[in-house]
Amino acid sequence: MIDLRSDTVTRPSRAMLEKMFSAPVGDDVYGDDPTVNELQNYAAGLAGKEAALFLPTGTQANLVALLTHCQRGEEYIAGQGAHNYLYEAGGAAVLGSIQPQPIDAAADGTLPLDKVAAKIKADDIHFARTRLLSLENTHNGKVLPREYLREAWEFTRQRNLALHVDGARIFNAVVEYGCELRDITQYCDSFTICLSKGLGTPVGSLLVGSAEYIRRANRWRKMTGGGMRQSGILAAAGLYALQHNVERLKEDHDNAAWLAGQLREAGADVMRHDTNMLFVRVGDDCAALGAFLRERGVLINASPIVRLVTHLDVNRAQLAEVAGHWQAFMQR
Ligand SMILES: *Cc1c(COP(=O)(O)O)cnc(C)c1O
Repeated sequence: MIDLRSDTVTRPSRAMLEKMFSAPVGDDVYGDDPTVNELQNYAAGLAGKEAALFLPTGTQANLVALLTHCQRGEEYIAGQGAHNYLYEAGGAAVLGSIQPQPIDAAADGTLPLDKVAAKIKADDIHFARTRLLSLENTHNGKVLPREYLREAWEFTRQRNLALHVDGARIFNAVVEYGCELRDITQYCDSFTICLSKGLGTPVGSLLVGSAEYIRRANRWRKMTGGGMRQSGILAAAGLYALQHNVERLKEDHDNAAWLAGQLREAGADVMRHDTNMLFVRVGDDCAALGAFLRERGVLINASPIVRLVTHLDVNRAQLAEVAGHWQAFMQR
């Protein structure tokens, strides 16, 4: 199947599996797993931060990040469509008694700082204490403007807020800016990385920040059930991904742009493409289109606006097939 539902569907390559197979391991709850330690140190080094923590999923990494930044009765400001507000089952509120303050993101994926400022609560017994601004980069495929990252950083310094970035796809932003990871992560206190999306590992995420922050996060990881043992097997995949699969993300971006062009030529209503995602308006045709493509070996999420995601397991020739089937559907 040609699977365009998400970049989470990527499978570990043989080379990655070989690294996993031969990884030296230990008990990571004791801090003894050399491969986990290597991954954490490597990621922290790339980010210009002191420390990192390996977690099973991005959802848990975001949860632990919020639990570490905010106490009970405090709040974080995030986008209405932010993963750590909308798509994590309310974990911060349920498990941390942390109140979300969602605001609408601008069209470019940023949270306008004047709108953020308007939501920061005064020191008053009626209000939760505003503690954290949480951004997402990339957000629905959109790379936040680089200048905005610095402005948000300065803003949070002035307003005494911490700044977290959900960087599930932060390397898609890095290759798009053409910069180093540290060039952008200097503008946040903490951030997460998903290793299991376009980077191609079977599981794993990282939370990155200061040594003191990560030391506290480690306790929350344990409490939320994320302390793992010989997890070097998994960390080996992450190391491989960071060393081999970052620069190639550019191919995914080029492929998404190329597919957008092909689908437009085929008459599809392509709304936009950014990094490795494109969005196509199909309206009421979605169920029929989904079934038509599935019969021809193509998987999509069939909704009125279809999000197509390119990744390391789909190549140009396969995307040409997809465009051909799409055209056949439009002409049926
Ligand atoms: C995928 C994703 C996550 C984490 O997802 P998991 O499936 O739990 O690894 C977090 N934030 C964003 C923006 C994501 O796209």
